[in-house]
Amino acid sequence: MIEDPYLGKYMTCISARSTDKEILQKAQDGGIATTLMTFALEQGIIDGTIVAVEGDRPWEPKPFVAMSREDILKARGTKYSISPQISWLKEATRSFGLDKVGVTGVCCQMQAVRKAQLYPINMRDVPGKVALTVGLFCMENFPYKSMQTIVEDHANQNLSSVKKMEIGKGKFWVYTERGNVSTLPLKATHKYEQPGCHVCLDYVSNLADISTGSVGSPDGWSTVFIRTKKGNEVWSKAVAAGMFETKPIEDVKPGLELVMKLSKEKIDKNRKTVEERKTFGVNKALRDPYA
Ligand SMILES: Cc1cc2nc3c(=O)[nH]c(=O)nc-3n(C[C@H](O)[C@H](O)[C@H](O)COP(=O)(O)OP(=O)(O)OC[C@H]3O[C@@H](n4cnc5c(N)ncnc54)[C@H](O)[C@@H]3O)c2cc1C
Ligand code: SF4
Repeated sequence: MIEDPYLGKYMTCISARSTDKEILQKAQDGGIATTLMTFALEQGIIDGTIVAVEGDRPWEPKPFVAMSREDILKARGTKYSISPQISWLKEATRSFGLDKVGVTGVCCQMQAVRKAQLYPINMRDVPGKVALTVGLFCMENFPYKSMQTIVEDHANQNLSSVKKMEIGKGKFWVYTERGNVSTLPLKATHKYEQPGCHVCLDYVSNLADISTGSVGSPDGWSTVFIRTKKGNEVWSKAVAAGMFETKPIEDVKPGLELVMKLSKEKIDKNRKTVEERKTFGVNKALRDPYA
């Protein structure tokens, strides 16, 4: 087990992509999140999973309890806006009748799941029914209105004609269905970030069973951390079943070094914000959730 102050605890880190062509067609990166959940469903490791599908407005994510491959596939692609994934956690074990719940989401949502497992406040049945968590890397998120302003004002694209959005190489990228690509410097997006993200001290979903993101691996591939015993069991089974192509992370560029650099930048910057809250007022402080 490797214990890294910026990358969390993990058993192994690899670069990977799905071998499922249908999943890859619309996946954000290597289709790891979708492939893991469909495989876990087919194997009976989970009987349903919380994912983020498109909601009522274009590119507005909506949490959804998926119980079929088809529904899990509907959640492919990153929506850069807040999707309250955990709002369905308890309900998944109630009206949906699930015994083995999967959860996908960003770092803070993995934290919420672990907290509910260890301190279940009005969360009866939840601790024992979480079966698999797949966490995404996350630098920051945006309220829907912010994302709309970024795409429609700054990138000058109509949200309903957008095919994919991506943050990478210092830019916010917007790809349209008809093949147009617009970019804007990330500098321009900072003021639109969700303020709550500025006290977040987790970049690579440290508390997930398996975490994945784009940074570190080439386009179309994902960087994957196998963290827990459960994560390792599912991952090994999936690789043995031919679900993934893998490469040692040491053999790909830019590799783990860039993941580490970005994680350090996020955590150091946000730690400073947490510190500053202690002396925010005159003789009074703002609350520190980590105290
Ligand atoms: C807000 C946000 C910020 C991110 N920032 C980074 C980053 O800084 N660096 C980096 O390397 N990667 C980042 N990612 C992760 C990256 O964009 C991909 O989501 C990840 O690599 C998974 O790709 P995939 O091909 O395996 O997923 P796919 O197989 O395409 O599946 C997409 C998965 O993402 C989930 N999802 C989509 N939108 C949301 C959402 N808004 N909230 C919660 N879950 C969602 C779906 O439920 C699904 O499980 C971010 C993701 C999000 C949602
Ligand atoms: S930056 Fe942290 S708090 Fe904000 S959405 Fe990402 S994981 Fe959650």
